[in-house]
Amino acid sequence: MSNFEARNPKLETISNDQISKRRDKGTFRKFGLRICFEFRYSDFGFTDRHLGKALTMEREIQVNPYRKIKSTGAYRRLMMAYYFMAKHPAWFGKKVAWITSGGPVEPLYAMGVLPFYPENYGAMCGASRMSVPLCEAAEQKGYSRDLCSYALGDIGSSMTGKGPLGRLPKPDFLVCANNICGTVIKWYEVHARTMNVPLFFIDTPFIHDEIHEHTMTYAEKQMEEYIAFLEKQLKHPFSEKRFQTVCFRSFEAITLWKDILQLSRSRPAPIAAFDAFIHMAPIVTLRGTRWAVRYYQRLKKEIEERVRKGKGAFGREEIRLLWDNIPIWYDIRNLSKNLSSYGAVLVADMYTSAWALDQVDVSQPLKSLSRAYATIHLNQGMAYKTKKMVAMMEDYGADGFIMHSNRSCKPYSLGQLDLKREVTKATGKPGLIIEADHTDSRSYAPKQVEKQIQIFLEMIREKRQESTSSVSPS
Ligand code: SF4
Repeated sequence: MSNFEARNPKLETISNDQISKRRDKGTFRKFGLRICFEFRYSDFGFTDRHLGKALTMEREIQVNPYRKIKSTGAYRRLMMAYYFMAKHPAWFGKKVAWITSGGPVEPLYAMGVLPFYPENYGAMCGASRMSVPLCEAAEQKGYSRDLCSYALGDIGSSMTGKGPLGRLPKPDFLVCANNICGTVIKWYEVHARTMNVPLFFIDTPFIHDEIHEHTMTYAEKQMEEYIAFLEKQLKHPFSEKRFQTVCFRSFEAITLWKDILQLSRSRPAPIAAFDAFIHMAPIVTLRGTRWAVRYYQRLKKEIEERVRKGKGAFGREEIRLLWDNIPIWYDIRNLSKNLSSYGAVLVADMYTSAWALDQVDVSQPLKSLSRAYATIHLNQGMAYKTKKMVAMMEDYGADGFIMHSNRSCKPYSLGQLDLKREVTKATGKPGLIIEADHTDSRSYAPKQVEKQIQIFLEMIREKRQESTSSVSPS
């Protein structure tokens, strides 16, 4: 059996029917909790009584109306316009650069280049359930199934010309920053070789604990080389003035995005993480443009209005949760429905907040950008991630957290067990780890995940009821 097969939930996990039979025989704790849940329920003060009740309950589907975000129409028009340009750059007299999601995009917009994000496109393939055949096309050419499915799907799409947008035009050059992972290095090298286009590589040393000044100087030097590369490719000089304008817009959009996400500290949360997963696209692709600023001004206004009126993203909000990792793009709708039927709302997440960059100083754009990109979430060690997650749990008043152990994204998923333990230790709140892949549905067992979530939420509810009754006067 290959390594992948050993991790494939479809092959190694048990079905819900099997769970029911084993539960009757009293073996559920062993199979259900050790294999599926990866936590000991006693860690959170749950007793056999809680577990018994959670397992014997009947699943009642309760309607919990979702409040649609009105700005979604504007969001769709904006993204359609962006993808139309990316598909036909010559019609708009644009050069196109493919860039990694953690790559500095502001110098590109300042030079009049349209950035295109294969990872964002990968999310689009996942949401439209087109990833599996694209990954398989790449696998047939010898690429390992163990690779990130964004990379596999993108390589498969380039090979076959298939995908939500069909065959994409060849980029003029590529920009790859390793501040998110090592996969992107080889992925972009493959594209540079097969498409015969120049590749600029930005190296950002991993920050294990403290941020050293020499690391920041190194990052700044890379930025200067990046600008020199752009001047050479585009054959026109870099304009400081234009760069400042783009950076100003970028910082403005980042601030708006941060404000929007933070509005969910209110009760009920006016915007759920599932909404943020969708509405994050402009902050990734159009950061630095006035379109992103205008769009987020509009969205912020709408969400603020909800806060004023005390309206939540869902009709009922009984359990507040935090999400860790990239979403399961092809199952967002089902997961959202499943959680909301229990009155559970994902009020925040670690993924979309990664674009709410800190420490941006408009007066020193180059220095500030170099620092911001070198210190992004995925480029920092466990202490930083723990601190950030604990702060978010407290800030958003979360009752627990769900971690997506993402087969594709190793930098996001490695260390999740430690992170879970530390966050629970610091906050006293339980966490649940579910296994999936962000776009490759072959590594996902939805019924099993549904069951895990059901029991996890019932346990939170039971525990809460118990603590309420223990403080109320007899
Ligand atoms: S491994 Fe993670 S960070 Fe790297 S490309 Fe895939 S999703 Fe992005």
